[in-house]
Parts: sequence; structure tokens; C-alpha cells
Amino acid sequence: MQETSQAKSHLFYQSHGRRPRGSHAAGIYIWDGDGNRYIDGSSGAMVVNIGHSNPNVIAAMKNQLDHATFLYRTHFENEPAEQLAADLVQRMPGDLDKVFFVSGGSEATESALKLARQWAVATGQSNRWKVISRFPSYHGSTLGALAVTGYDSLTTPFAPMLQTMPKISAPTAYLDRDDLSFEERGTRYANQLESMILDEGPESVLGFIMEPVGGASTGALVAPDTYYTRVREICDRYGILLIHDEVMSGAGRTGKYLAGDHWACRPDIVAMAKGLGAGYAPLGAMIASERLVSPIMESGGFAHGYTYAGNPLACAAGVAVLSEIDRLDLVANAASMGTRLKDGLRMLATRYPFIGDVRGKGLLLAAEFVSDRETMEPLPAHLNAYSRVVELAYERGLIIYSRRTRGGAAGDHFLVCPPMIVTANEVDAIVNIIDDTLLALANELHLPVETGR
Ligand code: PLP
Repeated sequence: MQETSQAKSHLFYQSHGRRPRGSHAAGIYIWDGDGNRYIDGSSGAMVVNIGHSNPNVIAAMKNQLDHATFLYRTHFENEPAEQLAADLVQRMPGDLDKVFFVSGGSEATESALKLARQWAVATGQSNRWKVISRFPSYHGSTLGALAVTGYDSLTTPFAPMLQTMPKISAPTAYLDRDDLSFEERGTRYANQLESMILDEGPESVLGFIMEPVGGASTGALVAPDTYYTRVREICDRYGILLIHDEVMSGAGRTGKYLAGDHWACRPDIVAMAKGLGAGYAPLGAMIASERLVSPIMESGGFAHGYTYAGNPLACAAGVAVLSEIDRLDLVANAASMGTRLKDGLRMLATRYPFIGDVRGKGLLLAAEFVSDRETMEPLPAHLNAYSRVVELAYERGLIIYSRRTRGGAAGDHFLVCPPMIVTANEVDAIVNIIDDTLLALANELHLPVETGR
């Protein structure tokens, strides 16, 4: 971040640092006001899945602007919202056929928690209210979404204001050093859910929320295959709703439309945002089954909503984004370019021994730094490697994303998640810049580099 020679700003962000002012963007590139070009290697915050300035999406939005920009949902139905709901439902697993639009990810997860609770009340199970979640995890910044989030630096300041929910460990099987196979560890992590349900009292537990492929809080964590089936079995056994937070992993980013599709998961509720509007408009959705929605409607309706829900302009963008994903076959491209990028990151891991793990699916990929690959001990936290790597890449014209790995206090990873339109040459260019970046990081923090580099 620049210290600041820029004019005083009346905005405030998360910290004092300033960034150059963005001027324009196209495809996977963004330019600042001085004409410097950056590769958007994180699609913003894993948002701009179809790339910047897609002409067909812009045309669809202009067309909608000529008709109506706002139609309030209790006064009028609107065509783009109906169309987008119909298009989305076709891509959902199981019986998920009812869509509730919102304007972002926190609103989507918050809505999922409230739908689950109202379903329990409407079906005579008002003692059920606890939603178990994982640590680390991120489900959004509103107080309800934070209550199920496991990331200390984000939750601790608000702890007295939260109805904190029970947490089990995220399935970090890659860290374990025991005699179990990876798949056996998957079952063991899932069994923590059952133990927690029994500890809390099954009659009080409403749901379990998880990111099927992790986002920024875990660095694209993928559980062993066994985990997903076992979680579903446990939820079924105790009548608990399974909520998939696909805010980051959904909309094609992992090489399937939903990350849960890699394991044929059957969640009861799906939360989406980010890639749904792909940065063209604030848009999110909660998708559930008629089986949950109907009892709520019959008992007086969903006591929840947002003014901008189902906004026609945002939904028109969403319809056009989905149609571009299909027309350009972007889910398949995310899968194949993801493989190329992951191979590139794995090649870098052979040069930089402080890369302890490369993981993720499709174009939701991350690399984690460690001080020792054998023990997977993190780097000393004070080195702030997670932050320095982003700055060094930025100086080299590449935007990547990073967080602490182990729940906010320790651990470092960076995510590389370019738009799903990325080409093979562009993937190679990204890997080259990361190579330079890691060399600079190693020099700065005195980290080891394999000789021959
Ligand atoms: N859930 C997940 C998995 C996310 O990654 C995010 C944002 O990064 C959210 C929820 C919150 O979304 P938003 O920032 O759009 O409110």
C-alpha cells in the first residue's frame, strides 16, 4: 500500500493505506490513472468471474436501464428476476427450486440462517436454533453471518454482541500427521459434527453451514471426498439442515457450477453472490426447496427481506452473466485453466520450500506458506508474509488475494483466482510474475530458495 502522496480522501477503508485510482478495465486487466496495467489475478475479491467489461452484459444492462431500474418486489414482479430464478434453479442440485434474491454474500448467508430458523418455527421445532459451523471459516460481515464465522480477528471485537454458534474444526486433513489415510481423516472430521450435535443436544440444533471449497479464511480448503457424504448422512440422521455457502465457490469458479457438484452434494440451502453478478451489479441469492419455503409461506410468510432484493437491473446483469458463462463455456475453461495454474503453482513449490501446500479446485486456488514442510509449522506471524506477498505482486502488476490461514492469528496463504476467461498464455504470465514475487519475498524475509533458481 502507498503511504500517500495522494489528495486527501473522505473515504475510509480497512486501513490507512492508499491505492492508485482505477481508471478502466477489460478482460483480465485493470488500468490505473497513470496508465499502469494490472492483471486481475483475484477477479477483485473472487467476483469478476466472466472478466471485466463484457459487452453483452453491458448491453443487457443498458437495455434494462431503458425499461425500469427499480421495481419494488411487493408492488411488482419483474421479468429479469423471474428469468434469473428459472435459469438458476436449472443448475441447482436435488429439489432446490425456490430463489430469494439479495445484494451480496453476507445477505445471502444471513437469509439462509433466517430461512432455516423460520422453517423450524413453522414446522413445530422452535427449540432448534443452533447453527454449527467450522473454524476457520468466513460467512460474511453482518452480525448473524459473523456468529457462524470462525476467524478471530474479525469476530473478537464483536463477541459480546454475537450469539456465537458452536464450531467444529474445518477439515484441515493436509495438516494432520497421523497414521490415517486422507480419506479416513475426512470421516473423522465429519464425525466431529455428530459429536457436536450430541454435545449440544440434537433437539436444539437447526443446521450446519460450510463452504464446500473454502474461501479466503482457509485458502481454498478442499476436504477429503469422504467428508461430504458423511456430513450429509449426519444431517439426515438428526434432521438438521445442510447449508452450503457457495458465495465464493459458486457460479462456476471451481470448474463445476457449484463446488458441491464435485461430490454430488445435496444441500438443503445454497447461498450465492460474487460470481452471480460477476461485479456488474450487487447481486446474491439464497436457493432453497419448496419443502422448506412452503411451511413458512403457510404460516404467514418469510419475516425477512431487503429493499434491493430482486432489483431488475442487478437481475438483468445476472441473466446476461449466466448466458455468457454458457456461451463461452467458462465452467469448462475454469476447470482446464485451473489445472494449468495449479501445475504452475506446484512447480513453484519445488523452487520455494516455504510453500507447504497448493490446493483448491478450478480457479479457486491457494498456496500456503510454512516454515517447515514436515511439521507444517507456519511462518512467524510477525513476518506478515501473507500481506507482503500481495504487495510485492502488486508492484509487479499482478493482483492476488491473501489472508491468515489458521483462524486469523497465524499462518499465511495467497489465493490466485483470475477470471474464468483466462487463457493459457495469461496463466503462464501469472505464474511467471508469482515466481518473481516469491523470489523477492524470499530475499526480503530470508526464506529458503532451491538452488538452480
Ligand atoms: N461467504 C463467503 C464464503 C465469502 O467468501 C464471503 C465474502 O468474501 C461472504 C460470505 C460475504 O460476502 P459479501 O462480502 O458479498 O457480503
